[in-house]
Amino acid sequence: MNAYDSMKIGDLLKPFGYATTEVIEDADMVILNTCHIREKATEKVYSRLGRIRDLKQKLGKEMIIVVAGCVGQAEGEEIFKRAPWVSIVVGPQSYHNLPELLAKLARNNKHVWDLNFAEDKKFDALPESLKSQGASAFLSIQEGCDKFCKFCCVPYTRGAEFSRPVEQIYREALIIASQGSKEITLLGQNVNAYHGLDHEGTQISLANLVKYIAKINEVKRIRYTTSHPHDMTDDLIEAHGSIEKLMPFLHLPVQSGSDKILKAMNRKHNIETYFSIIDRLRDARKGMAFSSDFIVGYPGETEQDFLYTMELVKRVNFAQAYSFKYSPRPGTPASTMAQVPEDVKSDRLQRLQDLINQQQQAFNNASLGQTFDVLMEKSGKYENQFSGKSEYMQTVNIQDASEYIGQIVKAKIIKSSANSLQGELIKNSQVAA
Ligand code: SAH
Ligand code: SF4
Repeated sequence: MNAYDSMKIGDLLKPFGYATTEVIEDADMVILNTCHIREKATEKVYSRLGRIRDLKQKLGKEMIIVVAGCVGQAEGEEIFKRAPWVSIVVGPQSYHNLPELLAKLARNNKHVWDLNFAEDKKFDALPESLKSQGASAFLSIQEGCDKFCKFCCVPYTRGAEFSRPVEQIYREALIIASQGSKEITLLGQNVNAYHGLDHEGTQISLANLVKYIAKINEVKRIRYTTSHPHDMTDDLIEAHGSIEKLMPFLHLPVQSGSDKILKAMNRKHNIETYFSIIDRLRDARKGMAFSSDFIVGYPGETEQDFLYTMELVKRVNFAQAYSFKYSPRPGTPASTMAQVPEDVKSDRLQRLQDLINQQQQAFNNASLGQTFDVLMEKSGKYENQFSGKSEYMQTVNIQDASEYIGQIVKAKIIKSSANSLQGELIKNSQVAA
């Protein structure tokens, strides 16, 4: 979502004469769009700000420095105390006010900030996407969260749950499609809690929204992320069976395999419901594959709780998964509980990641010899190599496929590794022109 927001900030500032640059030395303004979810996010931002100050001094030029995103939201005016060379602090729900903040700054203010939660106004104020995102595009449909898992900072930094209106999303999807993107990933912190209003004021579920977007001919693939097991409704599970364009791959964070820990986390789902969702999705769509998020070393997690997590991983058999050591976030309830020692966390993370890597390797190996639809996205690392994504989000590298960038091709999988596949183009097999 930060990538999406950064793109929107670029679009927003374009009419004011700004353009994005890859070269920091060329920049008249540097915007750090920050994430606060884990680890020493705040310290990383301050150390980066120190380096930018040094660069600014070395170059001896005007450079407006902005902190945007969730660290900006969490730290607020404290940033001006610790890094007085920062001019603007803006939160993730108020960055649409950046032009106004820049105008205020120009009127001789040293420090300006906006940390309001105004997501409804934000989306009304943002410009339409100005340039293509390439083969695959992001589209934010929902923001914020009301679930308050005890480890998580999102409800405090992104604010209350908010769904964009259907018409606004559909219009953005049409623009994305007209700019040549073949795949749309619908984004939200809790994307399947989506309940936006249509033009008649009726609440629309994510499943129905996906149905609308699937009607856009140029859109060939639809994904959504990140979903919460609690909001995995029957109609959404069914949609995976009935909407061909909805990809057979779902990122569904479970966090832990222990009901005791899930309860302590305030997750609102248990292991049985998680398994039942997985089973029903597998029944609905043949070959459905899964990814997930795990936290190890949550306060109170015993070796037995951790072993339940390992059992869950074995039972589901993931195509890939992300795993993290529990990281205390200031202001969240779990941060003040008795903590699991660091070495125990590291040991559990290692064991979990070994298992996940084995599963990922096995999943990729099972692709060998198969013919996959691959959406070609960009140049690869090596000469004449091009890279795309399978329906299951695997990276597929193909030689001599430059003319197919932005298209879906058929490729035979001839090699597999833990992180990617190699495919051989089946000539003239373009699926989507
Ligand atoms: N809304 C999604 C996840 C959003 S945060 C959900 O409910 O599942 C993305 C991931 O970051 C989470 O799934 C979790 O695994 C991880 N995460 C969040 N807070 C964390 C913390 N304090 N320590 C470690 N990992 C954390
Ligand atoms: Fe954070 Fe997700 Fe829990 Fe919301 S549901 S509090 S975003 S982990």
